[in-house]
Amino acid sequence: MIGPLEELVKSFCRLPAIGQKSAWRLVLYLMERPEAEAYELADSIRNAREKLTICKRCFNYSENEICPVCSNLARDQGCICIVEKPVDAFAIEKSGRFRGVYHILGGVLSPLSGITADKIRIAELKNRVITEKPQELIIGFGGSAEAETTALYLARLFRNDNVRITRFARGLPAGLDLEYVDQITLTQALNERTDIIYGE
Ligand SMILES: [Zn+2]
Repeated sequence: MIGPLEELVKSFCRLPAIGQKSAWRLVLYLMERPEAEAYELADSIRNAREKLTICKRCFNYSENEICPVCSNLARDQGCICIVEKPVDAFAIEKSGRFRGVYHILGGVLSPLSGITADKIRIAELKNRVITEKPQELIIGFGGSAEAETTALYLARLFRNDNVRITRFARGLPAGLDLEYVDQITLTQALNERTDIIYGE
């Protein structure tokens, strides 16, 4: 039988990038802090899990069926920025310069790790392009090789859909996730975006 302390350590160990040692450090920290602080953390986790759902349009986290960005008519609903994960949209939002909407792809193509087109939200994106008829798709990926492959795949997929396809300007550090890119670089990448022309 394991006691509450070991139970908690075990839970922390399941989190990404948390090993046994860090788990113990976090658990002991929480035990030493005022009770209210520990409960606050527990409540925030419960709250987030209970209240948040996935936006039916862009697939970002949302408290409603349609998220505030997708339902904001002051934003350019015809300009869709495609990102890998919710945190990327969050980083772009924080820069405060993007006035369009998002599409959370849920990853990038990586056939070697089994991430094929059907494993991410490409069909959903295709569906949006057909029904919403956006003017522009901005590919907002970081600089990895998989991101590059995915960008070209998307450019090819939408080449006959009468939509402008752009990508963030080069200069984003190779292999770096968008979430770690500073706001000035991110704003620059967005402002100086370039067209992707898929030629056959
Ligand atoms: Zn949305």
